[in-house]
Amino acid sequence: MSAEDRSQPERAHLRSMKAYVPGAQPDARAIKLNTNENPFPPSPRVMAALAAINARSLQRYPDPLATAFREAAAELHQVSPEEVVATNGGDELLRLAVTTFVDPGRAIGVASPSYGVYSVLAEIHRARLSVSTLTERWAVPADAAQRWNADGAQMAILTNPHAPSGSLTKPEDLERLAADFKGILLVDEAYADFIDPDLRFDSMALATRLPNVLVLRTLSKGYALAGLRLAYGVGSRPLVEPMLAKTKDSYNVDAVAQALGIVALQDNAYAQTTWDQIRKERIRLAEGLEALGFSVAPSQTNFVLAAIPAASLKSARFLKDELEARGVYVRWFDESRLENRLRISVGTREENSAVLTLISDLMKTP
Ligand code: PMP
Repeated sequence: MSAEDRSQPERAHLRSMKAYVPGAQPDARAIKLNTNENPFPPSPRVMAALAAINARSLQRYPDPLATAFREAAAELHQVSPEEVVATNGGDELLRLAVTTFVDPGRAIGVASPSYGVYSVLAEIHRARLSVSTLTERWAVPADAAQRWNADGAQMAILTNPHAPSGSLTKPEDLERLAADFKGILLVDEAYADFIDPDLRFDSMALATRLPNVLVLRTLSKGYALAGLRLAYGVGSRPLVEPMLAKTKDSYNVDAVAQALGIVALQDNAYAQTTWDQIRKERIRLAEGLEALGFSVAPSQTNFVLAAIPAASLKSARFLKDELEARGVYVRWFDESRLENRLRISVGTREENSAVLTLISDLMKTP
């Protein structure tokens, strides 16, 4: 090893790689609308379960297969526990799927723009990206599967509802996409809990019926447990089995996460009360931004993507920085089609009112 190598010991292709940069984690006084957390606390039953964790459950290794948690998830979605794999956050499921289903050198399909972790995972794994560009209204283009197939993609990842726009692809369109695509379609439903129940969206039947669909769910957003790191994948047994039995870490989900996760899913009724409030506030936040001249994509998530008024001399980046200077954190992405937009998580009523007032004031300043 040369002296130069010692200063950069990582694999050569990682040296120039751009890392995924998570949203800032300011102190507790800030109004934090930048990483799509649930603005309401976790279920009181979850907090009681946390207080009841005993020393022995920490002293011993957890169940390597997270059996009871997988049973709780299976019960919730009316699938079999063998069709569920538990992971240390949704990010772990993404990494697990990449390492289980994609050969280095082959392609992973994405619909762009979307969650930045996908391309970073592909690069770490030395997989290529096959990019299908979303339409102007953030819909999956009709030829997405064709593009991914042409590039020989072994897996494609679709965020649904989409981040950062909030737009929703219907189950029948997902089914067509899965049928046309020759690889595995990983549907990242990190935000599915916030979909309007009137739409009766449910992709779980697809996930277990179709051999190539794997659905990601997380407790980070809907269940207000981003700090716990717990998520799961649902798919047919041939998809889930190799991850459960071979590629995941031995004890990938810790004892506390398993214990609390079961209670959180069982107390789904509490979580639903938070989703209802978030949906109401999502409308109020979007309407408030539209009244200020922003154009807001219709959202089925717990955030809105708001484009700066065309006539405005203020840039999205300026607004983000000025808001941050006033203790309000929102997300801005320095990338194509997003640079003139702000992604704002739906907060409590007070938080949303505060961000609307501040934006209104900032738009008025010369
Ligand atoms: N997918 C999307 C689209 C996300 O925004 C996130 C959260 N940043 C995740 C997956 C992963 O979330 P977690 O690891 O907290 O489950």
